[in-house]
Amino acid sequence: MFTWLGHDERQRKDPEVFQTVSEGLKKLYRTKLLPLEEHYKFHEFHSPALENADFDNKPMVLLVGQYSTGKTTFIRLICAQLPNPVLESISIIDTPGILSGEKQRTSRGYDFAAVLEWFAERVDRIILLFDAHKLDISDEFSDVIKALKNHEDKIRVVLNKADQIETQQLMRVYGALMWSLGKIVNTPEVLRVYIGSFWSHPLLIPDNRKLFEAEEQDLFRDIQGLPRNAALRKLNDLIKRARLAKVHAYIISSLKREMPSVFGKDNKKKELVKNLRVIYGRIEREHQISPGDFPNLKKMQELLHAQDFSKFQPIKIKLLDAVEDMLAKDIAKLMVLVRKEESDKPIQTVKGGAFEGTLQGPFGHGYGEGAGEGIDDINWVVARDKPVYDEIFYTLSPIDGKITGANAKKELVKSKLPNTVLGKIWKLSDIDKDGMLDDEEFALANHLVKIKLEGHELPSELPVHLVPPSKRKLAE
Ligand code: CA
Repeated sequence: MFTWLGHDERQRKDPEVFQTVSEGLKKLYRTKLLPLEEHYKFHEFHSPALENADFDNKPMVLLVGQYSTGKTTFIRLICAQLPNPVLESISIIDTPGILSGEKQRTSRGYDFAAVLEWFAERVDRIILLFDAHKLDISDEFSDVIKALKNHEDKIRVVLNKADQIETQQLMRVYGALMWSLGKIVNTPEVLRVYIGSFWSHPLLIPDNRKLFEAEEQDLFRDIQGLPRNAALRKLNDLIKRARLAKVHAYIISSLKREMPSVFGKDNKKKELVKNLRVIYGRIEREHQISPGDFPNLKKMQELLHAQDFSKFQPIKIKLLDAVEDMLAKDIAKLMVLVRKEESDKPIQTVKGGAFEGTLQGPFGHGYGEGAGEGIDDINWVVARDKPVYDEIFYTLSPIDGKITGANAKKELVKSKLPNTVLGKIWKLSDIDKDGMLDDEEFALANHLVKIKLEGHELPSELPVHLVPPSKRKLAE
């Protein structure tokens, strides 16, 4: 009997059935997440309540860059390159050029980073533009990128005007960019950087023409895939939000618990805010929440100063259970629907305009991860090691391309990881929940074992870059 195979869960009552993903998301949000958010003033701390439009709107691309990185020409190029039907189904949002130098903050009448954070929660892609010819990352740009934390999966980086420098210098600039991003973003290596010259001028130095063309095609393909992936994006964002709302509820209710009922409230409040880190630590341990799920400590402390703690609510298990239930069951159900909707929306082919016919296959240069297979394979980080796992897979007596739970277990326990961990890995890996593993799921399971053995935390939900390509749509 495999206690970690999730059999127990199947016996619970079935989750609700929805006709469309956006209908499902709206209903789940309203009935399960929103009550928790309202109860603990989530909207005053993190993000306003979601509205129906947030679930219905078409995919959005947010463009962010410093002055003179070529944003405007970039937009024109996209509009010239992407087929009309794609543009009809995507909105491109331009942002004011980011300032460099000292006077930046005082010269705006609003908190630019906060505004971008609001957008980041709602868009499908965030394109960060850099100027290869003049690479510098101002404080404001750095703040902006930090504000995009938790949305790394949406970020694509464009190193523009790369035709203005020689190849050797370009390599150095690329290295410098990755190094700078590494200081701002936790995992810069997962960020996809497109090198190119995204404007219609002739190339100043044409040495890297082929590379630029391939990179442009890759990027256009990525954008073209957005309408197809929009439902999954919205689902992922709801999951992120639910996790934050859960942690937030724990924080607020912990603070409530610590408050005296009559005297010394002001002093106690100051003390609690000052020692918020300790409270974070306790919640982390008590509820096994990963540190990455907590809101920024300093920002939270600032926000708490303005709050009346006596208005805070104590813990209400029923509200938390509803969210837990949504994360554990309803989301999985919606995932099936997501794949179905995706498969109903075929990927449009690239119509290259000026580039038509000049490329021997846009991915022919082997540049970047996952090149060669089209959008569905881009960034599946497991792909690299899959051949190794495949060899093991075929020794485990697959039937119709799948191995049984028992055979998978035999192999996975060799890692010596405890059953609780393997159970979690199983849950993440058996994506279609059929109690068996196909080769991709098996590779994923091994990848997660590797991550864990290397000392990293397992994700509680599978991030998009770990979902096998074939599972991103309904099996063909
Ligand atoms: Ca499976």
